[in-house]
Amino acid sequence: MIQSINPYNQELVYETAEFDVSDVENAVNKADEQYKKWREVSFAERSKLMQAAGRELRANSQEYAKIITQEMGKPIKQAEAEIEKCAKLCDYYAEHASKHLADKIIETDAQKSYVTYEPIGVVLAIMPWNYPFWQVMRFAVPALMAGNVGILKHASNVMKSAASIEKVFKKAGFPDGCFTNLPVNSKMVEGIIRNPKVKAVTLTGSEAAGKSVAAIAGSEIKKSVLELGGSNALIVFADCDLQKTVSTCVEARFQNAGQSCIAGKRLLVESSIAEEFTKAFLDSVKKLKPGDPMSEDTTIGTMARIDLAEELEKQLKTALDQGAEILLGGNRDKAYFEPTVLGNVTEEMEVFTEEIFGPVIGITTFENEQEAVQLSNASPFGLGVTIFTNDLDKAARLIPRFDDGAVFVNELVKSDQRLPFGGTKKSGYGRELSQDGIQEFVNKKTVYIK
Ligand code: NAP
Repeated sequence: MIQSINPYNQELVYETAEFDVSDVENAVNKADEQYKKWREVSFAERSKLMQAAGRELRANSQEYAKIITQEMGKPIKQAEAEIEKCAKLCDYYAEHASKHLADKIIETDAQKSYVTYEPIGVVLAIMPWNYPFWQVMRFAVPALMAGNVGILKHASNVMKSAASIEKVFKKAGFPDGCFTNLPVNSKMVEGIIRNPKVKAVTLTGSEAAGKSVAAIAGSEIKKSVLELGGSNALIVFADCDLQKTVSTCVEARFQNAGQSCIAGKRLLVESSIAEEFTKAFLDSVKKLKPGDPMSEDTTIGTMARIDLAEELEKQLKTALDQGAEILLGGNRDKAYFEPTVLGNVTEEMEVFTEEIFGPVIGITTFENEQEAVQLSNASPFGLGVTIFTNDLDKAARLIPRFDDGAVFVNELVKSDQRLPFGGTKKSGYGRELSQDGIQEFVNKKTVYIK
């Protein structure tokens, strides 16, 4: 049995029997059979069903949000926002998929030449628990609109979310086999990727999982997209709007109890305002309200599992051993980790070079633009960076110098269905969302008519 345990009170939320090898094979066969029909369905019909999926999410958003909160501890308000974001994604691709995948005419010496974007078949998605609905929908919605079918291996601690997403598509009217949840543990993944009917794989998760999945897919010459970890810098220049910057930085680091790949995880502050900024930042972090994640007043929940909070505690201890100092927080109670701020953090410390996947942030100071860019790029990850400045000429000058997949100015790095999302370096490769995302799992077929 695979179980979901509520990290706030350790109660059993859900359990489900694991699929064995033959269950998986049957599900893949069924998905592949469905693919042959689904690829012939018109964009108009797919759009109707996707709009219905959006309506289903909105109609039962409380029920779905509660499942998220119970399984992984995020405050209910944030879970509700996650469901609404998924519904918007359904609306977006229902409206735009056909345009994103319209034939592209290219003038050559042929009578007619063009590129056409065709589906490829069964795509496996391996997904994490931190945004249990959003991460899955971010894959599934464009994949289905492109004419592919999806199979899901979700994180073991959010299998009720996984089953519920399957239910959303069923209730919306998608034929059986278009989207299939496979309750399996990660040991089964290799066999699924190697199944000849599975054509590609996308993983959102850790670097370790990414290495393994990409190696297996590579050995089968199958396409993979990897959305892995991040350690975004929040770069605070002296000429920023201080109060707005403080509140954006608090949200960037502490929403979802810090368990977000694109969270701001390294605070880089220009030394001339470091004292003033730090004081205002600490005052603002102190206002976060812990408590029962089901309560609407709670603004910081527990972490998703006790073992994750224990891991964070070890990283904190290493940071302290390496010379960081605690300015706020530092304590853990089961899966709850106090919002924690560290001072004296330097680029050699592991708290700077590793991903910190929880509510802990270190402050590092810099003297000038050049040093700010150097520190930001010193991370092995490259998902995104935020710069806070009122000097937009400076921002424009600096944007090309960052290695990351995204640069945001005066706003936290966030995903938006209209914009491509993805990383560089150890944050992975490939893009999700927007036109780039829907074109990842298609055959870009060249047609030449003499
Ligand atoms: P994880 O341990 O890698 O798990 C992610 C998924 O991969 C789960 O379904 C997990 O299944 C599966 N998995 C784990 N090891 C595997 C392996 N060797 N082979 C195949 N599948 C494997 O990551 P996590 O701790 O749940 O999630 C946090 C990580 O995800 C962080 O690094 C975070 O930055 C990253 N993330 C990235 C993005 C992005 O868009 N770039 C978004 C969110 C999160 P089990 O649960 O059964 O182990």
